[in-house]
Amino acid sequence: MFAIYSEGDFLEDSKTTVSELKYAVQRFSEARDWDQFHSPKELAIGASTEAAELLEIFRFKTEKQMEEILKDEKQRERIGEELADVLVFLVRFAQMYGFDLSRSTESKLKKNESKYPVEGFRGSNRKYDEP
Ligand SMILES: [Mg+2]
Repeated sequence: MFAIYSEGDFLEDSKTTVSELKYAVQRFSEARDWDQFHSPKELAIGASTEAAELLEIFRFKTEKQMEEILKDEKQRERIGEELADVLVFLVRFAQMYGFDLSRSTESKLKKNESKYPVEGFRGSNRKYDEP
C-alpha cells in the first residue's frame, strides 16, 4: 500500500488515484479522531461552505479582473486551496459512506450525455429542458 500523506509525500494529479486521495483524507481525519464530526450532513455543509469561499474570490469581478486573478500567483494559490477544500470534503464523504467517485462521475456524465447530446448543445449553455 502507498504511504500517502506523511511528511515528504508529494501528490500530483497525473500520478495520484482517487483511492489514494481517499486514503490520504482518511488517514488525516482518523489521526485526529474526526469520524465523530463527519456525518453526511456536516460533510455536505463543509463542501458547500468551501465552494462558497471559492465563489467569493470571483464575486463582483469582471471578465478582465478574473483573467488577472488567474494570472496572479498568490490568487492562484488561494484558488487551489479552496478547490482542495471542496475536494477534501467530497472525497471524505465518498470514503466514509462508500461512494465510488469514478463510477458516480461516469454515470453522471452518461446521463448528461443523453440530456445534452453534442448535436443540439454544442456551443450552447441553455438547460436541457429549455426550448
Ligand atoms: Mg477554504
